[in-house]
Amino acid sequence: MRYAAAVHPGDPYIKASLRAFGETIFAEMSALAVRTGAINLGQGFPDTDGPSEVAEAAINAIRNGHNQYPPGPGILPLRQAVAQHQLDFYNLVYDPGTEVLITAGATEAIAASLLALCEPGDEVITFEPYYDSYAATIAMAQAKRRVITLRPPAPGNGGGDYTFDPQDLRNAVGPRTKAILLNSPHNPTGKVFTNEELQLVADLCIEHDLIAVTDEVYEHLVFSGTHIPLATLDGMRERTIVISSAGKTFSFTGWKIGWICAPPALLNAARTAKQFLTYVNGAPFQHAIVTALGLGPDYYRGFHDDMAAKRTLLCTGLEEAGFPTFWPAGTYFVTTDIRPFGTNDGKAFCLGLPEACGVVAVPNVVFYDNEEAGSHLIRFTFCKQDHVLNGAIERLKTLRQ
Ligand code: PMP
Ligand code: GLN
Repeated sequence: MRYAAAVHPGDPYIKASLRAFGETIFAEMSALAVRTGAINLGQGFPDTDGPSEVAEAAINAIRNGHNQYPPGPGILPLRQAVAQHQLDFYNLVYDPGTEVLITAGATEAIAASLLALCEPGDEVITFEPYYDSYAATIAMAQAKRRVITLRPPAPGNGGGDYTFDPQDLRNAVGPRTKAILLNSPHNPTGKVFTNEELQLVADLCIEHDLIAVTDEVYEHLVFSGTHIPLATLDGMRERTIVISSAGKTFSFTGWKIGWICAPPALLNAARTAKQFLTYVNGAPFQHAIVTALGLGPDYYRGFHDDMAAKRTLLCTGLEEAGFPTFWPAGTYFVTTDIRPFGTNDGKAFCLGLPEACGVVAVPNVVFYDNEEAGSHLIRFTFCKQDHVLNGAIERLKTLRQ
């Protein structure tokens, strides 16, 4: 996860454990898009807002005076709405009083959980490529990451999903392992972990008394397979910190309203850390997300179907442009192989892409410890308007000329 252009090795003020992280790849690549005027298919944020009634609810909340600190755990109606969501979709029962916490996005939820759980030297197991905040947060918690590499399937629609060697996961568990941090649906690969894979994670957690921290921010974007929360597996609810966020599901990524569902002792641990990170955030947006979570099944279906069509549009276009494309089972990201373009250096490829054809993508290598496994892979997002995706595809098709 060392992105050369973003590392500040000489900066005297950054402590050693954070020095390798520099600027996040998303900020770096979005700035590149702005600077060059390129079409930004790098950072995952939609270019249209979520439902207007949800935006109106935020405006009304401001007008109605919901502008001071909300209660520490989040406003009760939102905690109730989150608990209802878990019940409706997964038959998971959480008490809004003691088992739900509202956070500043999933990012803070992950940070609060790991900061609360880990003693210095504890180990956190996660899968690579990993979402960029994981490595930095594990480092801030003075813990160590142990990564399991996900390997791409055959390219093409129906090529299958990224996989891992179960033995790699078993071997990663040791005396200092504290937690398994699992992201499914997975960014950037789009992998949706299968029941069998989740059962292996669950078995290891139970056998070795580990905590599972699950990042489920793309829970409503699954195109093939099913999203199964790890907490629904036998024996897992009591040892799982479930994390999600309104940003992706309702297309308001800038509002930063996320949540944790966990049994009281685990929730209390995360809450203890969270109090001193942000204390609270986003009072009017918390009210608006109550409205969002009340939208009903048609909303989720519409959001899913819209993204499914964009997935087909972009994946087909990338294939026509000559990229071997790993059609994602979930999320709004797709990864591709750049080797047909005569290079396996994804970093250099992405840095040159705006000039080569006016498009921004993200090099997956920054999400790997094992750089060789990810150097030839790059990620595009399809959470953009169709004309933007079509424009990017036309530009990418010029690359082969
Ligand atoms: N986890 C994953 C896998 C993500 O892709 C993101 C980016 N949205 C986050 C967590 C952070 O979510 P939030 O914006 O709610 O902090
Ligand atoms: N989750 C978004 C992505 O993967 C980016 C969010 C961020 O910039 N932190 O592109």
